[in-house]
Amino acid sequence: MHPKLKRKLEQKKIAKERINELFRLAEASFAKHPERSHRYAQLIRKLQLKYKIKLPIKVKRRICKKCNKFLKPGFNCKVRSKEGKLIIHCLECKNMMKISYGGKKSR
Ligand SMILES: [Zn+2]
Repeated sequence: MHPKLKRKLEQKKIAKERINELFRLAEASFAKHPERSHRYAQLIRKLQLKYKIKLPIKVKRRICKKCNKFLKPGFNCKVRSKEGKLIIHCLECKNMMKISYGGKKSR
C-alpha cells in the first residue's frame, strides 16, 4: 500500500477511536456537566468532517445535525421510530432529524 494512503487510513482509525472515546465521555458527563457533553459532541463533529468518517448510528443519533449538541433522549431530545427510521426531535434548536437504520437505503 502507498505509504501516504496508509498514513491516512491510520489517522482515520485513530480519529474513529477518538470519536468513540469522546462519545463515552459525553455520555458520562451529561448528567452533571451537559455543557461538556456539548463540547465533546462538537469535537466529534469536527473529527468527522476532517476525516470524512461515517459515524456509527449510536453516535449519529445522539448529536444534532443542526446545532451539534449532544442529545440525551428524555432530556433534550425526543426519539420516535417510524417505518424503519428514527425521528429525532432536538429540543435545543427544534430541529428534526431522520435517521434510517437496519441497512435499508432509502435515499
Ligand atoms: Zn439541535
